[in-house]
Amino acid sequence: MLNYKKYPAAWAACLLAVFSLSAYSIRSAYIISKSTPATITPVYSDFDESQVPSLSHRLVMPEKAKIVKYTVKSGDTVESISKAYSVNVSTIAESNGISKDSSLKEGQTLTFSSVDGIVYKVKDGETLWDISQAYSIELASITSASGINPSDTLSIGQELIIPGADKLKAVKTNNDVKSSGTVKVASRSSLMGILPVKGHLTSGYGRREDGFHKGIDLCAPTGSSVYASMDGKVTFSGWDNGGYGYLIIINHGNGYQTYYGHNSKLLVKAGQSVSKGQVIAAVGMTGDASAPHCHFEVRKNGTPVNPLSYVR
Ligand SMILES: [Zn+2]
Repeated sequence: MLNYKKYPAAWAACLLAVFSLSAYSIRSAYIISKSTPATITPVYSDFDESQVPSLSHRLVMPEKAKIVKYTVKSGDTVESISKAYSVNVSTIAESNGISKDSSLKEGQTLTFSSVDGIVYKVKDGETLWDISQAYSIELASITSASGINPSDTLSIGQELIIPGADKLKAVKTNNDVKSSGTVKVASRSSLMGILPVKGHLTSGYGRREDGFHKGIDLCAPTGSSVYASMDGKVTFSGWDNGGYGYLIIINHGNGYQTYYGHNSKLLVKAGQSVSKGQVIAAVGMTGDASAPHCHFEVRKNGTPVNPLSYVR
């Protein structure tokens, strides 16, 4: 479920992609009414994914920045280095946990971003989403500046660039896996799935203006493939009145289930076994959705957990 008030840029990018796509791919589109649990009709005929424009180019984002490792020379000060690299004093000071007046030792290494911002070292249990929330910055700005993909698995100690940030901030993890104390970001779980849609993460798991978001939203044009995140057995495939629209639920055993909402087309039936990566549905905007996307949830013993802790 996509909150366009909170994520205007992502929403606009979705719309752009959808409009440009409709020019050549949606030949036989049907609109499925939100309230009618009618027979499911195909929403597209020959959909060519290679024709979809890359959304990342449509969001205004900083260029990929570099992480500078600078060896202090005699006579250097934080200020003189910041001038030499045309960055703010805080860009150097905050990233290295020093003040702008700290005296530097010859041979000391300073790590900082080549654009104004902070170099942030990922800690145990943190996700990209947690970090973007702490810095109140679009997740896409971090991935773009750092040259990584939103679906990449972070490793502990990995250095990310938070463009525009001028203070190091505490990151709150919203991660049920972490609270078990045994599982880490880098090697989280043997239960590892894949993201069900090749699209942009437009909304993460956790608290949102409009309430608690129980899953993540992956934006992709109507008709894009939705893949089973892990091996399992389909326990539900049909219409959901609670807002999910055409929904698929897969049971993976050990108390784990995954949910795939807002589909335009369902391609598997309840009782069917599916394997990881199998196409199970087509992206749509049925139910409570204002743009085509897949709402993806992972539940453990019925309770939603952060999907980004279970996919790579
Ligand atoms: Zn959602």
